[in-house]
Amino acid sequence: MFEQAIHNYLRQHSYPGIHLKAVLFDMDGVLFDSMPNHAKAWHDAMQQYGFHLPCEEAYMHEGRTGASTINIVSMRERGKEATEEEIQRIYQTKSEEFNKYPKAGRMPGAREALEKIKADGLFSMVVTGSGQTSLLERLNSNFPHIFRPELMVTAFDVKQGKPDPEPYLMALEKGNLKPNEAIVIENAPLGVRAGVAAGVFTIAVNTGPLKDEVLLNEGANLLFPSMQAFCNHWEEIREEMARTAETLQTE
Ligand code: CA
Repeated sequence: MFEQAIHNYLRQHSYPGIHLKAVLFDMDGVLFDSMPNHAKAWHDAMQQYGFHLPCEEAYMHEGRTGASTINIVSMRERGKEATEEEIQRIYQTKSEEFNKYPKAGRMPGAREALEKIKADGLFSMVVTGSGQTSLLERLNSNFPHIFRPELMVTAFDVKQGKPDPEPYLMALEKGNLKPNEAIVIENAPLGVRAGVAAGVFTIAVNTGPLKDEVLLNEGANLLFPSMQAFCNHWEEIREEMARTAETLQTE
């Protein structure tokens, strides 16, 4: 199953093999179980301004900038974009709603996966649209000795944000990586689209309420139902990828 997915990826990009050096992790819905809170905060905040954004739809927009999400709903319901002031007020309310909830915990399986990756001599990076100032602190307290500040891409680094490939292209640059030297782990359709557009082997973990097809249709190379499932299959994925690199050397 993994062999076929890897083969398809290599053929599509004309890469001779995958020489895995790093794993690029999205944060919300991948490392932290924070998406239910984000979705609910979006729904509640929009409602206060007379807009309707169902929780499930919030998962479809995951990864977009706040302004972009607000404008999509505003166009749909009023036929015009929101003003700069409206965007700021709504996004502020969304952040306040989100901060009312207790801090989301680690996604089950995430820590174990990160430790396995480190033990294999690879490094992990975080690539997130989030711009929380306490981000690194929170990552370090939940996943000690894994992440390095110079190997992170956050809202402060990028102009476009997902679904543009920019965040993942920037991660490749910061990590001094070629696209076939990394894999992307994403839970959101737009995040998968960004990883795929960056030319990186992209693994979807379906930790939310969306159908698998939504993630697969964005081009995910593999899909797991959870981070724990990804973690449990890590060795097979790594070995299968290493085999593609070996074949190359012996040819
Ligand atoms: Ca996410």
